[in-house]
Amino acid sequence: MDGKTLEQIRDTLLNKWRKIEKNSVRDLDHQEDLSFAHAEIIDIAQSLEQVGRDTSLKEAERRDLLAIEKALAKMSVGNFGVCEECSEEIPAKRLLVIPEARLCAQCQAYEEKQAARTRFYGISAR
Ligand SMILES: [Zn+2]
Repeated sequence: MDGKTLEQIRDTLLNKWRKIEKNSVRDLDHQEDLSFAHAEIIDIAQSLEQVGRDTSLKEAERRDLLAIEKALAKMSVGNFGVCEECSEEIPAKRLLVIPEARLCAQCQAYEEKQAARTRFYGISAR
């Protein structure tokens, strides 16, 4: 993946993060602190970590923020865009749509199928 694509994905992640932040009920002073237009990735990862522990956030929001945090952390260590299941590279096209994806499309589909089966039968068929 070239640097330009990576930057584009990072922007998408940050925009998503901002959107969730805006939707959640938070005091304005705190939000001022989180204007990270020029912040380094590592600072963002740190502030995201705090958000992850914020109990005022809804469960789904917290999960999203943590996924974004994880993706940003991966970017900072340079192993972003690799499937956690099969270690294959996740296509940039997929990451541009779902930047926080930790699995490639194939593994994601498999995992969802397993999850659906678990919900249906109450046990994992794996
Ligand atoms: Zn995979």
